[in-house]
This record gives sequence, C-alpha cells and structure tokens, in this order.
Amino acid sequence: MQVLSVTPEIFPLIKTGGLADVTGALPEALAGLGVGTRSLVPGYPVVMSALKKKKAVHLYTALQGGKAALHAAEIGGLDMLVLDAPHLFDRPGGPYGDATGADWQDNWRRFAALGRVGADIAAGVVKDYKPDIVHAHDWQSAMTLAYMRYGEAAKVPSVMTVHNLAFQGQFGASIFAGLGLPQQAMALDGIEYYGGVGFLKAGLQAAWAITTVSPTYAQEIRTPAFGMGLDGLINLRAAELHGIVNGIDDDIWNPETDKHLAATYTAKSLKGRKANKRAIEERMTLDRDDGPIYCVVSRLTWQKGIDILASIIDPVVASGARLAILGSGDAGLEGALLAAAARHRGRVGVVIGYDEGLSHQLQGGADGILIPSRFEPCGLTQLYGLRYGCVPIVARTGGLADTVIDANEAAVAAGVATGFQFAPENAGDFHHAILRANALYADPAAWASLQRQGMKADVSWDRSAQKYAALYRMLLSKRDA
Ligand code: ADP
Repeated sequence: MQVLSVTPEIFPLIKTGGLADVTGALPEALAGLGVGTRSLVPGYPVVMSALKKKKAVHLYTALQGGKAALHAAEIGGLDMLVLDAPHLFDRPGGPYGDATGADWQDNWRRFAALGRVGADIAAGVVKDYKPDIVHAHDWQSAMTLAYMRYGEAAKVPSVMTVHNLAFQGQFGASIFAGLGLPQQAMALDGIEYYGGVGFLKAGLQAAWAITTVSPTYAQEIRTPAFGMGLDGLINLRAAELHGIVNGIDDDIWNPETDKHLAATYTAKSLKGRKANKRAIEERMTLDRDDGPIYCVVSRLTWQKGIDILASIIDPVVASGARLAILGSGDAGLEGALLAAAARHRGRVGVVIGYDEGLSHQLQGGADGILIPSRFEPCGLTQLYGLRYGCVPIVARTGGLADTVIDANEAAVAAGVATGFQFAPENAGDFHHAILRANALYADPAAWASLQRQGMKADVSWDRSAQKYAALYRMLLSKRDA
C-alpha cells in the first residue's frame, strides 16, 4: 500500500510543533506494517538545501503565479516529494510568516499550490507513482482533498488529520477566483466558510475519513466549547471521525541513548537522572537542593495555559519546588515568566527560545513536567515525560487525559499511576496537583515507582501506526466495495 502524506512540516527538516514530529515519525513506523509513505512538502530554504541529489519528476510552467518543479528525493531516510516553487517558498523567516511572526499575506496561495500539487500526484502526474491513499495534515494541506474532490482523484480515498482545530486557514471570499476550482465548490458543503473560504473546512468536508490525535479530543471537538465553529460539520461527519494518539520517535527520544543528556539511564537504574538534574541547575542557574524541579517545555500561549502557570508561581515556589521553564511565544507571557524568575532567583529559571537540546535535558533531569493546557489535541511533551521518568502533571483535557493516569490513592495502591491530573483552567486545582506531587516526591520509593510505571507505558509509534494502517485498509475496502 502506498500513502501520499501531504504536510507543511516534517521533522527533522522543518518543525514549529508536534505536527512535524508526527509526519516525520509515522513513515518509518508504517513501513514495518507494509505501508509505504511518500511525503509532499514545500521547498522552504531548509528543505531545498537538504536536497543533495534532486530529480525533477514534474514541472509546472504556472503554479499560483510562477514556475515550479516537483523533486523526488530521499532525505534522512524519508521518501520525499519536494515542491520547489521559489516565488512561494524561497523566503527567510518561518514556514508561515516573517521573522517577526507576521503571517505571509499570500499564505492562501502558498498552500493552495501545495494542495493542487498533492491532488495532481493523486491523479497520477508523477510517472510510475500512484498513491492508494492521500493523507493530509492540517489546514495547510487540506486543499489537496478539495482539489481531489472537484478534480480527477475523487475516487482516491483520503484522510484529513486535524492536529489542532484552532488553526483553520480562513480567508476572504475574494481568493476563491484564484483557486481555480469550479464555481460549485463555493458552497456550504464545499469550501465556503462563514462567507469566506475555509481550507481546513474544505478538507473536513471532502475527506473520506477524519482523524484527530486523541480519542478525548475527537469527542471534545464535537462540542461548541472546543469545536471552534466547526463542531456542526464535525458532528455531521462523526461516523467518519477517529481519534488516534500520537507516538514518539524512539530513536530521538530514548533516555538510554540520548546524546543531549549529561548522563543516560534506564528504567532499571534511574541514577543518571541525578547528573542531569545537576546540569539543569547549572544551566538554569537554580539553587542546588534535594527538592523537586518541575520543568515546562512549551509554546508560551494562552492555549498552553501559561498564564495559569504564571498565576501560581509564587505559591509553588513557597512550597519548596523549583521551576525550569523553556519556551517562547506571547511577549506578555514571556515577560510574566521573566519577572517571576527575577523575583525568585535560584528558584525559577527561564530560558526564552527554542532549544531542542535543552528540551531533552529538561525531560532527562527534571522530576516532573507541568502542562496546564486549556485544550490539547494530543500533546507530546507528556509522552516524552513518561518515557524519561519526568512525571507529567497535566490538565485533564484532550490527549493529556488519555495518556496520563492520575496518582489518586486507588491508582497508587494498584501501582498503575503515571502522573497527576487536574481540572483544566483551574489554578487552585493545578496548585493542589503540584502539592500532591511534592508529597509523593518526599517518598522516594513511591516516586520511583511512579516514574517506572510511566517509563513502561507504551508510547511508541508502533501502536499508533497499527491504527492508521487499519484505517487505511478500511478505506481501501470501502473504495473497492
Ligand atoms: P504543540 O504542537 O501544540 O506545540 P506538542 O506538545 O504536541 O504541542 O508538541 C510540542 C513539541 O515542540 C514537542 O516536541 C516539544 O518538545 C517541542 N517544543 C515546544 N517548545 C519548545 C522549545 N521552546 N524548545 C524546544 N522544543 C520545544
């Protein structure tokens, strides 16, 4: 079986969030199950410079205002199709905007082009390659499914995965003329969305199956509180909606082999964690003591509940815990955290920025990881936390609810607990969860058993890949029915 994965990000080449981890890791896990994946990605500068031997497999004389070429390449073990369209993708900054974070004005063009090319591949423009399934990730890839539906590949089964419903790709109605779709597409059951054009909406409407990245989030997005305007449509398509939890890439996230750590370790012997904790104290200028360090590795945004965290830093510090925070995002939240660090020298360390290595060190040395998200489709940092014995303390929402077992009395007694959960958006309950963690931390044997139980949890891609493979097979039998 051959799957074309269409994605705006892929680890390790280009990543702004968990989506890249998923699209980077799933191909290898699926390969073990007899499913081949080719990934179509935009030719951003970092992607183009990673192309060693490039071979054009298709040329466009005019694609959204310029010439473009599609290159087949293997990069880091990934089988890729790279859309080289310099007028759309050859620019500095991030994948969606300039260095200041402002979105590119022509994002609709850039990702309509990606979608057009995805649909062309599904229809067979690349010689000797015809995917059995097309799998689109997030709004940037969603137009693939619309172009397929209104073009020549309507009979190719498709999957639309929503990694975060908050990002929808909404544009004004005036762009419709530039999309090159038939007039009938500008309809309620097509790509029209609140009077404009909705890319994700179009994909959700056209997909044969819809997935999101945890069972709980799949239920949550059917409600107005989490549906972000799309709950009506998602309810209509509830029979085709699936929740599949992400896995983690064991080659990259493995405390036994992790090169970013001062000391590696195993579930059997957690001793190495001590050296890693000392390294964190050094790096984040924290006092050295025997109390717990809780880390944060996150985008600093409202979604992630960082304002809620900021509101309880003083009592958390008063409880004796130290905080090691890595993240970047909203200026106001960065400022609030830096102010807390200044108020609590030696107790709160804050690094503003994106630092892959430090994110590993924190998981390998901190005692717990705090994740107070308001909503969390899946979340990866709690999975890394489980794998690394960095006990997750999480809001009970989305994938966080699905992957962490709260250390309530019964779960501790039964030896199944892996972390702590608290009521979302509830600063009091968040604080209380940290106090519960402090209490358990004071009992080293109990804490170690919590860590080991988490490290035993199956957070591998194998389990998730089996679910995707089963979904693909189900769609193929639907096609053939
Ligand atoms: P989201 O995709 O919503 O940002 P996830 O938890 O699914 O949240 O994935 C976030 C990913 O980005 C994880 O791999 C996490 O380790 C990483 N990450 C987030 N912020 C930083 C940072 N400041 N430095 C390094 N890695 C980060």
